[in-house]
Amino acid sequence: MLFKEFGFDNRILKSIDHLGFNEATEIQSRAIPEAMVGRDLLASSKTGSGKTLAYLLPALHRVYKKKALSKRDPRVVILVPTRELAKQVYGQLRLLLAASRFTSILIQGGENFNDQHKLLQKDPHFIVATPGRLVDHLKQRHVFLEGLELLILDEADRMLDLGFADAMRAINTAASHRQRQTLFFSATLDNTDVSEIAGELLREPSRVAVGQGFDEHSDIGQHILLCDHLDHKEALLKHLLVDQAIKQVIVFTATKNDTVRLSEIIAGWGLTTQALNGNLSQSARNKTMESFAKGQFDVLVSTDVASRGLDIASVSHVFNFDLPKQAEEFVHRTGRTGRAGFKGEAYSLVGPKDWANFKAIEAFLQKTFDTEVVEGLEPKFKGLMPPKPARAVSKKPASKVQNKIPKNSAKKATGKARFHDNQQDGFDAFKLPTKRFEKQVNTDDGED
Ligand code: ADP
Ligand code: MG
Repeated sequence: MLFKEFGFDNRILKSIDHLGFNEATEIQSRAIPEAMVGRDLLASSKTGSGKTLAYLLPALHRVYKKKALSKRDPRVVILVPTRELAKQVYGQLRLLLAASRFTSILIQGGENFNDQHKLLQKDPHFIVATPGRLVDHLKQRHVFLEGLELLILDEADRMLDLGFADAMRAINTAASHRQRQTLFFSATLDNTDVSEIAGELLREPSRVAVGQGFDEHSDIGQHILLCDHLDHKEALLKHLLVDQAIKQVIVFTATKNDTVRLSEIIAGWGLTTQALNGNLSQSARNKTMESFAKGQFDVLVSTDVASRGLDIASVSHVFNFDLPKQAEEFVHRTGRTGRAGFKGEAYSLVGPKDWANFKAIEAFLQKTFDTEVVEGLEPKFKGLMPPKPARAVSKKPASKVQNKIPKNSAKKATGKARFHDNQQDGFDAFKLPTKRFEKQVNTDDGED
């Protein structure tokens, strides 16, 4: 569908022209008309498919065409899970609003609270926010959402993963008047937590799922390499990085410490590299991302902090030095390459400790990956038998294991546990709203 066929306000068509886009992607073609008629929307599609414009354009159309419900309250709030994504979405929004009288601000964790308060006092029309920080401002009564017209949740599944469920609920409650419309975007919809919160937030939503939400990117070549242990992983990584002389690579690791350790090792191979993780200040993270985007160094070693929102067309390779615990995360990480029609390659190093995660990823994607072998670096590890579904497994694991694997990982490979926990890395842990807040915004209890 062409953008000019949606019936957008002319000013919007101009902005789209500036972006150089003509034809809408599939998710845009299907989601935009639903959103424009004012319906709630529950939508999913693969990463890189153009979801941002699928919600920003109808949001713009709405503010152009409709009278505001309130003079002071924001008209549109866009919630996103991470600061990186917040910046990215905000950047797009700013471009689209450039020629308009509408104002927008960015509210994210890790930046000055008082400065944000001042921005909120100017009564912006649009707010792009990470949920935790927005709730902090709601608690302080720096912002009210009684006049909110459109609540947009981008990567809602990821927000849930990061522990933002209560923050999402608090925001919903603060804006729970009848006229509000809600657009809910999630990488996956068939997940209990997602459907539960969608049920709370949405009213008779239209559903749009493009390619089950998780079709694989055909522009990304997936390579799976089995590994015996850490040294083996490092040798493989060295082989792949150094011998192929590749530029613009992201290596994902499970922990913050690993990003530093591994980037030092990679530097020792003569490549330019930087570590990115949640221990860095926001400005340091921004600087690293920007200089990577400009091609000022070759290898970005990162935790999942960089798995979303980083939109650099020239990332040629993604390496999973460790496999992510969440299967969806695999798709988001590998989706950093193969963007905007470029070809990308994703390498995953699967050791005994990654095996359970690897199987979960295969189950999630409903496919079986072939493994590849690098000559001279062949693994002894050939995979593990499927874990027994019953919990009692932990009592007799050894006999279930096909190959020799390190002692300390045998137990874990049978269950879901993972040796690293990176879930909260880099993100503001959400604190429950206080009693005071519940009273102030009290709309869920005692309402008819
Ligand atoms: P998602 O949120 O689904 O991962 P994004 O909204 O980040 O995807 O879009 C991915 C890339 O595609 C961005 O670089 C964006 O500018 C580009 N894009 C979006 N819509 C279109 C379109 N209709 N035509 C061409 N490129 C587009
Ligand atoms: Mg997106």
